[in-house]
Amino acid sequence: MFLHLSPQQRELQARVRSLVSEKVAPQAAELEAREAFPHSVYEAFRDAGLFKLSLPEAYGGIEADATTLCLVIEEISKASAGTALLVFPTQAVIRTIREVGSVAQKKRFFQDLSTGDKLAGFCLTEPNYGSDAGSIQTRAVLEGDSYVVNGTKAYITLGPHAYYYLVFVRTGPGKRTGGISALIVPRETEGLSFGRKERKMGLGDSVTSEMIFHNARVPRENLLRAEGEGWRILSRHSNPMRVWGAASLALGIAEGAYEAALDFARKRIQFKKKIASFQAVRFMLADMKMSIEAAKSLIYRTAALIDSGEGAFRDVETLVSMCKCYASDMAMEVTIDAVQICGGAGYLKGAPVERLMRDAKAVQIFDGSNQIQRMVVSKNIILD
Ligand SMILES: Cc1cc2nc3c(=O)[nH]c(=O)nc-3n(C[C@H](O)[C@H](O)[C@H](O)COP(=O)(O)OP(=O)(O)OC[C@H]3O[C@@H](n4cnc5c(N)ncnc54)[C@H](O)[C@@H]3O)c2cc1C
Repeated sequence: MFLHLSPQQRELQARVRSLVSEKVAPQAAELEAREAFPHSVYEAFRDAGLFKLSLPEAYGGIEADATTLCLVIEEISKASAGTALLVFPTQAVIRTIREVGSVAQKKRFFQDLSTGDKLAGFCLTEPNYGSDAGSIQTRAVLEGDSYVVNGTKAYITLGPHAYYYLVFVRTGPGKRTGGISALIVPRETEGLSFGRKERKMGLGDSVTSEMIFHNARVPRENLLRAEGEGWRILSRHSNPMRVWGAASLALGIAEGAYEAALDFARKRIQFKKKIASFQAVRFMLADMKMSIEAAKSLIYRTAALIDSGEGAFRDVETLVSMCKCYASDMAMEVTIDAVQICGGAGYLKGAPVERLMRDAKAVQIFDGSNQIQRMVVSKNIILD
């Protein structure tokens, strides 16, 4: 698909593509099977400056826009969605601070993150509140100059490997979403600990764990905007991450699986012919490519709208939810078909298509399940 990209975006895309083919793709299956933090990829991405892409230039970043982040996450996810999750939450947190942080907060947090070796985690989900995020119960009570935080967050990507966490808490006494606030919490906070590393169906190369707050004291100056502003920060400033986060991740997964299936179909001989010569297989490949291109158009059109700053909130919200939902449903279908095309070889552990199929399932669930995205889209189009 033709994309209008700047020379800088094309250069970065090419650089990430070659980094991924050299440092990620050859060990992607092994890293996923190991179910541990992918240290070697972390180091390669750190050295390439990928963790500070969204920082302003004064702090060593390129103030990456949504389109640029889509390109990066898509390229990494073609080979390994789990390692793209080193970049995705980190950029989500930096972008949120960039948009809503005070001058003093930006100075402090961006100075710390400018070394380029620090990751950031995004913490909303709790054991009893996933889709119903507006009901979260982790409490933060102001005592003197600190918020005292108690509660548990669940499924936190990066687990204990981040340096800062953007944590949504209830400061109350406001109504449901009106009582939610956003705090930046350093990992070294006393009273903050991490539960066991979760074992997952896929994304073994991404650490996911519980995060437990027991009388954890967080400086008052780490509150973003004001008390009760958390839901607005989430919906207006954090949620657009779904385009360059979950949606681009799903797009990359689908492209990786499609390429593997195409390659297999061109080489595999049955009935003395390449299986790519059979119409049933050709049409599957055509359908896969069509839906990939459709998702790509939707994602990059939405990213361009976000970057223009001209989209009305409801239009952006609708398109963002469409991107996340459509791309991840598409990735699930494409990866299932890719396994089918590869036959028994696709079903073996270690085959790229089986790994990508397991990874695709997660994207239908996280970052707001696809049922919740359909609720957003229907609410915004029916307007009842
Ligand atoms: C690999 C992975 C990484 C994650 N990383 C993070 C992270 O870094 N930070 C973070 O905060 N969270 C993270 N999550 C959590 C993720 O965002 C939640 O799992 C997701 O929002 C769904 O919440 P839940 O699992 O509690 O499911 P539930 O909310 O319990 O939903 C269960 C099912 O019911 C459906 N459902 C719920 N309500 C409705 C409704 N009103 N109408 C129709 N259907 C409904 C859901 O769609 C789902 O199919 C991660 C999850 C995974 C799997």
